[in-house]
Amino acid sequence: MNDMLKKLGLRATPQRLAILKLLQGNTAHPSAEEIYNKLKPDFPSLSLTTVYNTLESLAEGGMIQEIRIDCSRRRFDPNPQPHYHFLCNKCRRVFDLDINLINFDIPKQVGDFWVEGCFVNFYGYCMDCK
Ligand SMILES: [Zn+2]
Ligand SMILES: [Zn+2]
Repeated sequence: MNDMLKKLGLRATPQRLAILKLLQGNTAHPSAEEIYNKLKPDFPSLSLTTVYNTLESLAEGGMIQEIRIDCSRRRFDPNPQPHYHFLCNKCRRVFDLDINLINFDIPKQVGDFWVEGCFVNFYGYCMDCK
């Protein structure tokens, strides 16, 4: 975890390490606000800006990814590999969806366009809410 921060040129402060620790193996796709609220009791001086800056740096460095599925908040996933997500309309939880939609190498030229990425999201109801 220290190495991740070092690679990004970030100092391994206790706050940043706590953010990383909270993300590790986390499959709930937490939002920056959720991460902030969980850590705030232990780190009273923590600011939401610090949480955002750390998450953005980690995402830019390809160590985590930002999930653009829930327009009401920015969520983050410690798994940087491309995979599909499912948003439950009722409980608003985000799950990894085990589905193979496209077999398409990106980046790739398609006609006049140079395609560097794509976003496909799924939504509906989870088993608890159905
Ligand atoms: Zn649900
Ligand atoms: Zn995910």
